[in-house]
Amino acid sequence: MPQPRRSKKREEKPDYGWVISFGCKTAGELRRLKVATDPSADTSPIEVPCPCGETHRVTVSPYRRRRSADEAFDLEVASLDELR
Ligand SMILES: [Zn+2]
Repeated sequence: MPQPRRSKKREEKPDYGWVISFGCKTAGELRRLKVATDPSADTSPIEVPCPCGETHRVTVSPYRRRRSADEAFDLEVASLDELR
């Protein structure tokens, strides 16, 4: 008797947004920016107000990836347009 295969529907995974990593040269650390909407539509550079007090110019495209459920982040925006 054949076993019924468990079908996982990946589309139903909750949406935790996207993470863009950027280096903070002032603190010498890697920071994480959470963005709610898919940032791939516009990959022009953004100006990120870093927790170190400075604003860093960040290139978007190479660092875009899905955020996992419990992944920490340093700052958060709904859309990257807020930083342009
Ligand atoms: Zn910084």
